[in-house]
Amino acid sequence: MPTIRQLPPNVVNKIAAGEVIERPASVVKELVENSLDAGARRVDVTVEQGGIELIRVVDDGCGVAAEQLELALASHATSKILDADDLFRVGTLGFRGEALASIAAVSRLVFRSRPAEADLAAELEVVGGRAEPLRPAGGPHGTAVEVRNLFFNTPVRQKFLRTTQTEMGHLTEAVSRLALAHPHVHFTLSHGGRLIHDLPPGDAGQRIAALFGAELAEGLIPIDSVDGELHLSGAVANPTHSRPNNRMQYLFLNGRFIRDRSLQHALGEAYRGLLLTGRFPVCFLHLRMPPADVDVNVHPTKLEVRFQDGGRIYSQLLGTLRTKFLSTDLIARAQVPIATGGGIGGDEELRAATASPTQDLWEWAKRQLGPARSEDVPGGAFASASPFGERADALQLHRVDLPPLVGRNGSITAGRATPDSQTAETGDPFGSAIARLDDAHNAHSARPPRALQIHNRYLVTETEDGLEVIDQHALHERILYEALRERVLAGAVESQRLLVPEPIDMAASEAAAALQNRDVLAQLGMEVESFGGETVLISAYPAMLANLPPGEVLRSLVEQLLTEGKRPESRDVLDELLHMIACKAAVKYGDRLTPQEIDALLEQRGLAQDHHHCPHGRPTTLVFTREQLDRQFKRI
Ligand code: ADP
Ligand code: MG
Repeated sequence: MPTIRQLPPNVVNKIAAGEVIERPASVVKELVENSLDAGARRVDVTVEQGGIELIRVVDDGCGVAAEQLELALASHATSKILDADDLFRVGTLGFRGEALASIAAVSRLVFRSRPAEADLAAELEVVGGRAEPLRPAGGPHGTAVEVRNLFFNTPVRQKFLRTTQTEMGHLTEAVSRLALAHPHVHFTLSHGGRLIHDLPPGDAGQRIAALFGAELAEGLIPIDSVDGELHLSGAVANPTHSRPNNRMQYLFLNGRFIRDRSLQHALGEAYRGLLLTGRFPVCFLHLRMPPADVDVNVHPTKLEVRFQDGGRIYSQLLGTLRTKFLSTDLIARAQVPIATGGGIGGDEELRAATASPTQDLWEWAKRQLGPARSEDVPGGAFASASPFGERADALQLHRVDLPPLVGRNGSITAGRATPDSQTAETGDPFGSAIARLDDAHNAHSARPPRALQIHNRYLVTETEDGLEVIDQHALHERILYEALRERVLAGAVESQRLLVPEPIDMAASEAAAALQNRDVLAQLGMEVESFGGETVLISAYPAMLANLPPGEVLRSLVEQLLTEGKRPESRDVLDELLHMIACKAAVKYGDRLTPQEIDALLEQRGLAQDHHHCPHGRPTTLVFTREQLDRQFKRI
């Protein structure tokens, strides 16, 4: 029979460390939280080698008295709660009394502290959980904690550590979260002797600008609402600043960064219709509520919490954002190009963001034109249902000006035939009925397109033995993807060199990922180099995306790299990036196509090896045979 033993404290601490201390970023989080709990006005974080070698956190907080130092480093020793009831009134970031003991169990830790009233500082060194004798030391008021050789005695953990750059990315993110939650505290972060962040005390907006750039900060929509004791404040970004993942959703509860699926869902709901699927809003939101209304003791690093009345918070968030969006010029701005008939040019993000209002207007316009005309599109009466016929005026109103297909993807489609050269072509599915109307209403085209575009999404075309319904975006994406892949493999991607290299401000983790993946990016025609700090210099970018701002292209590529989290050297990443570029460069679901664009798209179909599926595996084309149709109509 196995014997049961009480585990010695050093083993207990190592187990606890496994939960709380995952990587250098976790150490920084715990130490800085302690500094904030100690009322620090300034916190300086210094690291070496992504924090693996050294993490030093120095604060000007209240300090710890010499006779309490040993206790501070003992497990389950805390000054922040007294009894279990206090768990429901936690007003500090820490309360479990485990962090210092856990860190000390897996590193060489020196804790030096000097309270305001003490003449001298005292210092305690703990190596792998074993404390050295307490010694007096010099130093200013406040606390300095040094953590060296993290996981030196836990090789298993060490193996999970990633490159310096990756660890630094996590660490910078941890500091950013704390700095966003506490903008009135002065933070600095230095790595390898280089100052990465110097964030002087300021307001929330200044902090966001300092961390993510003025452009994002200026476009923020302020949020403020109170429901009883529940206070929601902060800001959300304009839909033009959407991201492909939810990493830029900063949600804080009583000064603590949290992740909450339900609130993320509320956020997504609030933006529904303003963002394309797969895009996520950016937010910096602070929730304040009485500590008794939330249980923060459900997750070892307190990343997740349990609300007593989650439903109410969900509604408040959703309601506040919806009301705000309705009263902001967000929608109005989206409609400007529609109302004036003007274009919004190459701003794909804005176009994406406004897809839904545009669509709504289109639906409205359709109703204004009367049901008889707009609802018999798929029927036989092409004379009245032509997409370029009598409805042309309504379409002009609705139209978002697009660059022609040729311009949209550069040289890949540049070789396509001009409409004129196709005039003599036979097999035109919709015949002369459309042509007559076209002449009268559509200056663009001398001849009808070879397919009918419906709902600005699908192309319907006649084939020898039936008809096909084509998803315009999926097909174009496939064609571009294949063409691009071919070029990448041949090392012949067209890249557009910028006359003046463009500096792009990024988050530290993004800049690190961009530089780390320089080779992969170069294969795609995107050339970057470091410009100091978090700024990356773009000297060339893919010609295929010439209509998008280079900075946006780079950010999307990097986001993809970060989202995938895959090894940069693997072929998969490259493939994912190809998908992304193809997707960005392709015509969108909802884009009105000119007859020439429709023709070009159908023509290029033959060039793709697999034009039946988009790069994500969805079908591009549905086929209905004549026999199927006859059967459905009970003719056979
Ligand atoms: P917790 O933060 O959950 O209380 P920790 O192990 O992180 O547990 O810290 C233990 C105790 O050490 C804290 O309760 C606090 O009293 C003291 N302490 C830790 N860091 C600091 C600091 N930077 N300044 C002042 N006191 C500190
Ligand atoms: Mg703590």
